[in-house]
Amino acid sequence: MSNISKDTICVQGGYRPGNGEPRQLPIVQSTTFKYATGEAMGELFDLKASGYFYSRLQNPTCDTVAAKICELEGGSAAMLTSSGQAASFYSIFNIASCGDHIVSSSTIYGGTYNLFAVTMKRMGIDFTFVSPDCTDEELNAAFRPNTKAVFGETIANPALVVLDIERFARAAHAHGVPLIIDNTFATPVNCRPFEWGADIVTHSTTKYMDGHGAAVGGCIVDSGRFDWAAHAEKFPGLCTPDESYHGVTYVKEFGLGGAYITKATAQLMRDFGSVQSPQSAFLLNLGLESLHVRMARHCENGMAVARFLQGHEKVTWVTYPGLEGDKSYALAQKYLPHGSCGVVSFGVRGGREAAAKVMEGLKIAAIETHVADARSCCLHPATTTHRQMSDEELLAAGVSADLIRFSCGLESRDDLIADLAQALDRV
Ligand SMILES: *Cc1c(COP(=O)(O)O)cnc(C)c1O
Repeated sequence: MSNISKDTICVQGGYRPGNGEPRQLPIVQSTTFKYATGEAMGELFDLKASGYFYSRLQNPTCDTVAAKICELEGGSAAMLTSSGQAASFYSIFNIASCGDHIVSSSTIYGGTYNLFAVTMKRMGIDFTFVSPDCTDEELNAAFRPNTKAVFGETIANPALVVLDIERFARAAHAHGVPLIIDNTFATPVNCRPFEWGADIVTHSTTKYMDGHGAAVGGCIVDSGRFDWAAHAEKFPGLCTPDESYHGVTYVKEFGLGGAYITKATAQLMRDFGSVQSPQSAFLLNLGLESLHVRMARHCENGMAVARFLQGHEKVTWVTYPGLEGDKSYALAQKYLPHGSCGVVSFGVRGGREAAAKVMEGLKIAAIETHVADARSCCLHPATTTHRQMSDEELLAAGVSADLIRFSCGLESRDDLIADLAQALDRV
């Protein structure tokens, strides 16, 4: 069936059992797989045949869930990873190495910023961070001859800035490199970055996709549309023989649709081993089955809470992409017409101390290092997730010292508002 709706893919995508097979996705809790001859297994090692031989490389449960996310995003191939961090790292390290350069939006998740600016920099990969609302001239000036990709988040965590995906894709493609989008906060239910020109999508499935705070995980999806071969000199890893795999050339053997994910699996999973467990993939799949239903509710609650906060005398500012007058409102209308996410950022009169007092006064929302959960939660990024950043870096990432990130869960919106009201009364 073509044009099948995202709702149906959420429920049934990826797994299509035959006669007599389990209706629910089986958890293949096995590290290894049996073969009758060494030769048959050797073919798998050489990537000459496809099949399972060791769960560090591939596992049927994980592959099935990856296939569902791939269908949801409208991609050509996908893989699960142990975490969103692993997905971000692989997505770039798969096409960049020591001596290369990446252009990244400055409003990204704090963990990703640290991965890029500190850890990957130590590996010899340089990053230039650009404001999502920089001019085209500024954006183009960030590129160098050794630039290998552009990176950004559909809705930045926690700045809640919506990226102009089309504009960033245009700049990336003009310089012969792909645009990688972290689509964690929007999820494919609210935005499919491939429809706007992005080439690769990453996810922290830990967030809305799992949705219940049950399992840490990540995912990488390839659109299959970036023409690596047309820029072969930039991407030798995909376009020249891989000696660690008996000379296989990924774009030749697996085509544009399969090269990127096959390489990431064959090389990066083999060597780094950041696999998602089949148990976690099973939990992720349960979450995905209701993703379309839950996202609508998260967005409804987010909008109601944002409107309440906007009118409150003790609240100095509110950021929510769906809110009229928000600085991302126009981009949200374009890229996220059916809703953005359940996360709202706001500042409290009285700054840091007042923010702490409000958070401690909440009875329904808990203080947690988490977002995008069925249970409402809140966090003060400047003293937690982003505490490694200087004040200037915080500002560039769109995180002020008084910012409270409030993640609306699936509870009653009236209860969430009443809870916030009584907590704000305390300051
Ligand atoms: C949480 C998060 C990550 C990191 O994911 P983990 O699963 O915690 O490793 C990356 N990007 C965004 C936007 C996130 O919210």
